[in-house]
Amino acid sequence: MPGKVTIVMYHYVRDLKRSRYPRIKGLDSADFAGQLEYVLKHYQPVRMEDVLSAMAGGADLPERPVLLTFDDGYAEHFDVVFPLLDRYGIQGSFFPPASAVLDGKVLDVNKIHFVLASEPDAALLVSTMERRVQELSREYELPSVASLRERYSQPHRYDTAEVAYLKRVLQRGLPLDARTRVVDELFARFVSQDEAAFAAELYVSLEQLRCMVRHGMFVGSHSYDHLWLDSLPPDEQERQVVRSLEFLEQVGVDGDRWVMCYPYGGYDESLLEVLGRHGCAAGLTTEVALADLGRPLELARIDTNDLPKSADAPANEWTAAA
Ligand SMILES: [Zn+2]
Repeated sequence: MPGKVTIVMYHYVRDLKRSRYPRIKGLDSADFAGQLEYVLKHYQPVRMEDVLSAMAGGADLPERPVLLTFDDGYAEHFDVVFPLLDRYGIQGSFFPPASAVLDGKVLDVNKIHFVLASEPDAALLVSTMERRVQELSREYELPSVASLRERYSQPHRYDTAEVAYLKRVLQRGLPLDARTRVVDELFARFVSQDEAAFAAELYVSLEQLRCMVRHGMFVGSHSYDHLWLDSLPPDEQERQVVRSLEFLEQVGVDGDRWVMCYPYGGYDESLLEVLGRHGCAAGLTTEVALADLGRPLELARIDTNDLPKSADAPANEWTAAA
């Protein structure tokens, strides 16, 4: 009988105070180590392969199973996360977008994070963005600033309304061409003019991923370009999946039992159909809940912020529910 698994989602894990971007929203390395101790005290870490077997009707999972997942292919996943997991004998599941590793480009999502980390004045960023939207509306068919504000300006779980508005407009509020231009301009002005050097520092390399796989870590698909897949037509969804599978082959991943992690948590019926045709074994969402193994392509996750960061902390409500 399929049960529940606690799947924890991580993004940046770095020594924030000593990093060049202390304002980046990430988990501090020391807190990560503390959270691993908490996890080891209260849960039993399982491997992705065990979860896939359990969903396919194989062996049962242990009590209070937990799976740790790391999105976006950051260099610190190799430098900070991998050595700690290896020391504790825990498997991590890593989901790097192929373009981040192969193409020397910084993903739009990361450009936006580093723009926000570099310029504390969110109002300045918003006004810069809105001015460019107005200027670009001479070249592109764009929504008005008033309609963007109305549609996208609400606070999010971890963001103020201003920051959430900027992120949403730049992630999906504008057509791809226009938003790429605005994001690139903000990145060049507030962060760096050398995108290739920035990407080389930010992301894990192909060789590092191969090393992690050789040492028992799991690597899955996070698509090729890290777009909202539910905003793409079916043929482009398929292209994103196929190209990411070619990338996973280069990494040395077993193509028979592969796992998809939806960028931004975005998926729809046609994507699920594409995944089914390509033999995808599981899909990870950003829905905040314990994962229900009866819904393999819609596995929910909790965020690292939902769990304590020290072994001494009392068990919280997520742990009690596990
Ligand atoms: Zn992502």
